[in-house]
Amino acid sequence: MALKNSILDTIGNTPIVRINNIAPDGVEMFVKLESANPGGSVKDRLAKAIIEAAEKDGSLRPGQTVVEATSGNTGIGLAVVCAQKGYPLVVTMAESFSVERRKMMRFLGAKVVLTPASEKGTGMVKKAKELAETHGWFLARQFENPANADTHAETTAREIIEDFGPDGLDYFVSGFGTGGTISGVSRTLRADSPATRIIAAEPDNAQLLASGHVQAFASDGSAAETHPGFRPHPKQGWSPDFISQIANEAMNEGRIDAFLGVSGDDAMRHSRELAQKEGIFVGITAGATFAAALEIAKTAPNGTKILAMLPDTGERYLSTPLFADIPEEMTDAEMELSKSTADVRFDIATAPAPAATGAKAEAWALQDVHNTVAATPVVLYALEWCEFCWSVRRMFQDAGIDYLSVDLDSAAYRENDQGGQIRAALREITGSPTIPQIFVGGRHIGGATETFDAYNSGKLHEMLDQASIQMMVASENAYGYLPKWLHPR
Ligand code: PMP
Repeated sequence: MALKNSILDTIGNTPIVRINNIAPDGVEMFVKLESANPGGSVKDRLAKAIIEAAEKDGSLRPGQTVVEATSGNTGIGLAVVCAQKGYPLVVTMAESFSVERRKMMRFLGAKVVLTPASEKGTGMVKKAKELAETHGWFLARQFENPANADTHAETTAREIIEDFGPDGLDYFVSGFGTGGTISGVSRTLRADSPATRIIAAEPDNAQLLASGHVQAFASDGSAAETHPGFRPHPKQGWSPDFISQIANEAMNEGRIDAFLGVSGDDAMRHSRELAQKEGIFVGITAGATFAAALEIAKTAPNGTKILAMLPDTGERYLSTPLFADIPEEMTDAEMELSKSTADVRFDIATAPAPAATGAKAEAWALQDVHNTVAATPVVLYALEWCEFCWSVRRMFQDAGIDYLSVDLDSAAYRENDQGGQIRAALREITGSPTIPQIFVGGRHIGGATETFDAYNSGKLHEMLDQASIQMMVASENAYGYLPKWLHPR
């Protein structure tokens, strides 16, 4: 393993893995795991290729903002590449794609501008174009940019031929979103592995390629209409409401040998099967592609080798129908297991913690608490990362309340056990051994529970008013700031 010079050197060269438990007898099935890319999807390849091609031909200037419309994976890939190379990134995405994607892009430093779901794929593409024109940004144009298919022709397809040898693979199965994968891979395979059949998988309720309807294009190469065969489907990243120029080219040049429709249920079932029977954790389009590959396998002669392209990881689907049947709480069977041993369970009370005794507080610590409380309108005596403390802080922040958090277990209070001394003083002053303890306008409210109660009853508002501090009521129930497992049972 050579040292990598940057994260960009880890894009591509994804593993091709044999399917051992869910392939029919006699047929050799393989999957190409694009989840192994650093951004977790096939689109890292296109992101790197488009940015580097634009750097080379000068259409992207140093520091210029990059903008693109995406179902999420291209945005995540671009965010990885732009973070490494120092370009600001703005992504337009329909609100219907999973929230994990938005959060990931924002975590990677990108801005995400949502578009209405009703405007579909064409809406988010239009928005990206408008933003590029208005602000002078570089538009990645993944649906038309030749660098998209080119990188698959030069990398993905070469990796496949390297692993199977020329004509060693009988079927290559892939869906299409931009069409970059199927167009690029099919171009190289036709030239250097001509015996390999190319199969395009599509949603069974939105078979655009198989429909025969000729997609209309505008002069800039973008789709000029919503395809009449389009219907909403759960396979995020597949078949937008148009056939892209790149996908159209692969079809017109006869590089697709057959089209297969896959239902949403089949897609999700096979994603789960791959996870539970093979340990391969992938998304919905991966399940769909694998389902199409199994269709081919059903009638294929012994010894046939089939490769399904699995575009991304399953982790970005936790909020989608893929995980709808995966419970958060314990199932009946899990609850039975919980009850099958004596201790550490939910259905019997745990013994109460012994009352804290603790040493008597030192005079300096008592004075320190009195001074701090007198001088500071809102004080929270806290532990740095305790969930109750964190929840009270969030409530204060949302309400626009300035506060001082004295974090007794933080490094600043470690010397000579200052934190422990102040905690002992708090115990004496408040009569309570628990943390956090909250003071407003010099008066003790209590712990997190009392503070949430005071928020809910309006008492906190009054106390702040008396101390001439404004607050905004940002939530109906302050207990909502607690993690669910800490809600009063
Ligand atoms: N599956 C997923 C999850 C995707 O994000 C994409 C890309 N939008 C695809 C499949 C299709 O890949 P391509 O754009 O190369 O056709």
